[in-house]
Formats: sequence, structure tokens, C-alpha cells
Amino acid sequence: MNTSEKLSAFYARLEELYRLRCVTGLLNWDQQVFMPPQASDFRAAQLESMGRLIHQRETENQFVDLVQGLFDQLETLNDDDKVNVLETHRAVERARKLPESFVAEQSKVCALSYSAWCVARPANDFKSVAPHLTKIVELARQEADLVGYAEHPYDALLDQYEPYARLSQIKPVLTRLGEKLSRLYPRIQEKIGVVAELHGEFAEEQQRRLCERIARDVGYDFERGRLDKTHHPFESSLGPRDVRITTRYSSSNYLSTVFTTLHETGHALYELGLPERHKGTPLGSAVSLGVHESQSRLWENIVGRSPQFSRYLHGLLGEIFPDEQKRTNAEQIWQQCNKVAPSLIRVEADEVTYSLHVVVRLVLEEQLISGALSVSELPGAWDQMYQRYLGISSPHHKDGVLQDVHWYGGMLGYFPTYALGNIYAGCIYEKALSDLPGLEHGFERGEFRPLLEWLRVQVHQHGMRHKPLTLVERICGHAVNEAPFLKYLADKFGCEQHD
Ligand code: ZN
Repeated sequence: MNTSEKLSAFYARLEELYRLRCVTGLLNWDQQVFMPPQASDFRAAQLESMGRLIHQRETENQFVDLVQGLFDQLETLNDDDKVNVLETHRAVERARKLPESFVAEQSKVCALSYSAWCVARPANDFKSVAPHLTKIVELARQEADLVGYAEHPYDALLDQYEPYARLSQIKPVLTRLGEKLSRLYPRIQEKIGVVAELHGEFAEEQQRRLCERIARDVGYDFERGRLDKTHHPFESSLGPRDVRITTRYSSSNYLSTVFTTLHETGHALYELGLPERHKGTPLGSAVSLGVHESQSRLWENIVGRSPQFSRYLHGLLGEIFPDEQKRTNAEQIWQQCNKVAPSLIRVEADEVTYSLHVVVRLVLEEQLISGALSVSELPGAWDQMYQRYLGISSPHHKDGVLQDVHWYGGMLGYFPTYALGNIYAGCIYEKALSDLPGLEHGFERGEFRPLLEWLRVQVHQHGMRHKPLTLVERICGHAVNEAPFLKYLADKFGCEQHD
């Protein structure tokens, strides 16, 4: 085969894999949105078959050789093909280094551990999942050895979620963020004082209308997406013109629904902004979970929790919840969506203290992987870290070390991406404000397009063309660090930072 024949075979296989992954996505989406309960066994079997089919098609010798052949002649390819071959080669190499027997063992251990966690968390029973977690940590260490790493075994795990990132780059930034936030949040908390609780009953149908209106205003396209209801909201990309979002409704707190929806809308805007001509290839794919999270958090927190957005939202209430509009005002809405206080549960944490939950997990994960901490010592270490960063600790494991599914489902190295999302969003938004001065004033009038258009050019259209850290550095013009995010918080709440 000559190069152009090789490339067309390569792209044909990527297209096929993309279609198969979208089918899997659709099965998953339906499982969480519409599927009747008794269909779950057959759906699990369908998903298993799809998983096996995809794995076969992506690890088939012929395809692996094709990718390797193109990789060996990388310098002869044009820029677009280079990126697509390089990133596909990286993924294929990683998969090739993990023997089938290891992958089978790992998925069995993770499935058992997940089931054990589902029982253990409500029962507050860490001891019963500890042996499962011990095995997971062991396998994660083996995985790191098998795939290889330059500096720290943790890098090999992190790489699955934040490609190319190294512990030595992100840990100093995240721990500095942790130290500074733990000094900043008490001052913000004091400044805000006591906030009036939100009262009332908010009908689901009206909340749905409100969320659809907001999603549409920020630029989500209902011709290429839809909004449905689920237990654990998520965004799902099912094709080049099919990017769906889900939300959950709280009858007593419409604000919580609004922010959940805005978060998922942020993810969807990124997916919809990826270049359609490159769909199914690395150039048409999101670059990392950290950058994905920067987009959701930028819309949810930096835009959604701004005073200008509160005024816009107060205006919308007139059409949808007229009684609530009379009861409240924009200032009060701003206060209600900007409460700051240390808390035990990560997913319920506010914008300021959220990253502290992540720093705790990163430090503990690193120690588990390096062997400095054993699983039996984990609950004690968890409590100590919560005391240190948030000044509180949980009397129960279910709200402590058992609260997140990640470790028990085998996802070690995932957590940092949540806080990286905040850090990236701080860097990106600082540049957006300097490029588009006064940008935030448009939010009050529901004008979000200038920001979306800017993000499309700066972030979305690049796909995986640059490494995640490089992408953010190219945008903000300096090394990625915590300062812009901290400055944004300090300015927003009118607190000076003392270091
Ligand atoms: Zn998210």
C-alpha cells in the first residue's frame, strides 16, 4: 500500500470505531434515561458485546500494523494526519502493552469492587470493601509498570484522563491552590455572612422550560441535542450532530437544577464546537477531561454565578415563576447561588472549597500508588487531610472515604482533572476578559454569544491538536498556574489575598 492508501484504510477504521462507540453511547444514554428496569440484564449483555467488538476492531493486528507503519513515517505526513496518527498510535500502544489476561482480571476486580461499594457505602462499612480496594491499587501499580512511565507510576494512570500531564507538573500547582484556598475560604465565608434560604415549590415542567431557555440562550442547539431527566446528570456525545444533556429536578430548589443543567451544557458546547470535518479522529475529539471540565465550570460558575447572570435569571423568572420573581431580587439570587462553607461531600461543595476536596484525594492517591499509604490506613489519613484543608471531618465513612465511586470502580488518577478544570477555566477566562473587555455586562441581557464564539476559536476547534497544558498556555500566554483562578475568586467576593 502507498501512503494515501494506508491513510484511507486508517481513516476508514477510525470512522467505523467512532460509529460503534456512538452506538455504545446510545445504549448507555438510553439505560440512564428511558430504559425499563427489567431490561437491565439484556442491556448489560449488549454493552458487553459492543465492548468486545470495539476492542477487537481496535487491536486487530492488521490495524495495529497499519498505525505502526504510518507512525514510522510520521515526518512525511501533513500536520493533520500527523496528529491523528500520533494520538491513535499512543492509544494503540497503551492497549497493546496490557495483556488480555490482565485486562480481563482488572475488569472483573473492578466490577466486584463496584458491587461491594454499592452495598458498603449505605452500610458505612469500609472494612468490607477494603480488600477490593487493595486489589485495585495493586492492579493499578501493575498497570503503571506495564504501560511504563518517565517519572512516577501515577503518571501512567493520570495519562488516561489528562494526556501527557505529569504528577511533577500538576501536584505543585494543586497543592499550592489547596494551601491558598484553605486560607481564602474562611475570609469569603465571613464576608458573605448568613444567606436567606430559598423557599417554595417549583414545578418540574416550569423548571424544564427555564433550563431549556437558558441552554438555548448560552448557545446550545436543540436541533443537535436534547435535554432529558436522569438521576446522575451527564452529557453524552452520540454523533457529530447529536450531543445530549441530562439534568435532575429538585422541587424545592430550582437553582440547583439550573446550575446542574448549565454544567452539562458547558460540556455539550465543547463537544458541539469540535470540528465536524474531523469527527471520529483525534482532531475532532476533546483533548482531556481537565479541559472538558474547564468548559463546564466556566459556564456553570464563572458565568452562571456572576452578578450579571443573576440579573438575567431574575428577569427570566417573570415568564416562568412570576411569584418567585416578586419574592426575590437579583442580589438575593446571587447570594443563594454563592454560599461558601466547608462541607464533607465533594459533589455538593461550592465553587471556592470544591478544589480542596480534590487536593485531598490527589495526595492520598499518590501515596496509595507509591506504597507510602496502605488501604487500611486510608480512612485515618482521609480524616486528617479533611481537618487540614477544610477544618472538618466526617463521623461516618459513608460521607468520608466511601463517598465517591471512582477508587472503588478502578478510576485512580481521575480526580485531579476536576480541579485542573477550575485552574484552566481561571486562565482561559482571564484571557477572554482581556480580549473582550466588558464581556460580562452582556450576560445581564442574555448575550453569551461573544464568549462562546471566542471559546470556539481558542479552545474547541483545536480538538487534540495540542497537548492539554500547551493548549491552555497558548491561550493565556503563560505557564498554567493557580493565580488567575484565585484572583477571580478574591475579586468576585471582594477579599484580598494575603500570602
Ligand atoms: Zn463535569
